[in-house]
Amino acid sequence: MTYLDYAATAPMLPEVIEAMQAAERRLFANASALHTPGHLAMNEIDHTRELLAKLINAEPEEIIFTSGASESNNTVIRTFEGCQIETSPLEHHSIIEAAKMYTGDKLPKLYSYMLANNELGEILDLPDIDRGEYSSSGLFEAKNEWGKPLVTERRKAYLHSDLTQALGKIPIDIKALGLDYATFSAHKIGGPIGVGALYVRKGVPFRPLIVGGNQENKRRGGTYNTVGIVGFGTALERVLKDQTWKSYDTEVRRLRDHLAKRILAEIPGSSLNTDIKSGASLPNILNVSFRAAEGESIQLYLDAEGIIVSTGSACAAGDTKPSHVLMAKTGDAEVAHSSIRFSFGLDNTMEDIDRVMDVLPGVINRLQQISTIAADNSR
Ligand code: PMP
Repeated sequence: MTYLDYAATAPMLPEVIEAMQAAERRLFANASALHTPGHLAMNEIDHTRELLAKLINAEPEEIIFTSGASESNNTVIRTFEGCQIETSPLEHHSIIEAAKMYTGDKLPKLYSYMLANNELGEILDLPDIDRGEYSSSGLFEAKNEWGKPLVTERRKAYLHSDLTQALGKIPIDIKALGLDYATFSAHKIGGPIGVGALYVRKGVPFRPLIVGGNQENKRRGGTYNTVGIVGFGTALERVLKDQTWKSYDTEVRRLRDHLAKRILAEIPGSSLNTDIKSGASLPNILNVSFRAAEGESIQLYLDAEGIIVSTGSACAAGDTKPSHVLMAKTGDAEVAHSSIRFSFGLDNTMEDIDRVMDVLPGVINRLQQISTIAADNSR
């Protein structure tokens, strides 16, 4: 199999599987329990917390573990229920749908702009926001059990970024980016599905999405997913040890750009939706449209040949509407319907590109011919 769908989910790293299997046996206890096995589990959770904090230049107390990026995104957006919420048009549905549900007209205002988009790989400029003082809102009134205010900085606006696709692919410094909140997911970096994290800067408004437990300092109820968090930690260790963003910038970029060049040269009617200039996009994503060939058909033909890609985003699979991201970028439904996303990981090689180019030109040619016949017959 030639797997080119890393942006949907990266296969778990071998050391992650090993660490999780060992954790299943060793770290079975409830991490909130005061006994020794409980402490053992909590220590491992805190180790992952420290690794993520180190990687993104945050404090460990500013990290909350969640069930994934969708939960992290929903948590931030719902914190600002009734407030003004502005998002980029390229956001993941977990931002767009939550924003639709909870937006209002009060201050403070939340800006949610992803740093790197999952469908195109595009790197976005984060907005310059007015962080002036502002005080009269119920959002700021949350108190801890001793009556002390939980929100210590009362600002007119706050900034959240979904860093799910950026983690491990480009260097991330939360402080340099000026973020108040940030979202992460383990399964995009070789960790398990169903584990994520949320960065919440000290002193900013926060409202738990899941209540009813004291876990995560009362910020997220529910028994800790120790095994999953250990897996996340093991994947983070690889990112930190290898500084994976460097290999993405060199080796993976070379593969991506080579595929782009060959597609443009060898397949009539092809056009790139990803701007592959350095700095404009992540190095591991390439989104391409093929005139008069439907994305889903291309995906199925390639799948039959053992080449795994996606159309738009996997989360929108089964949804026949054209991708909102491609519509926002191109305004052209035909371009959106005929798009394929190739996304690479550190295991891909030049042979994978050769394999794609052995098959893809024939697939596109066949589909373009069918489409010409269909167009002729409809006259
Ligand atoms: N945000 C972005 C940018 C993503 O790419 C994804 C995964 N497609 C998500 C959020 C959702 O992540 P999770 O599967 O961890 O909920």
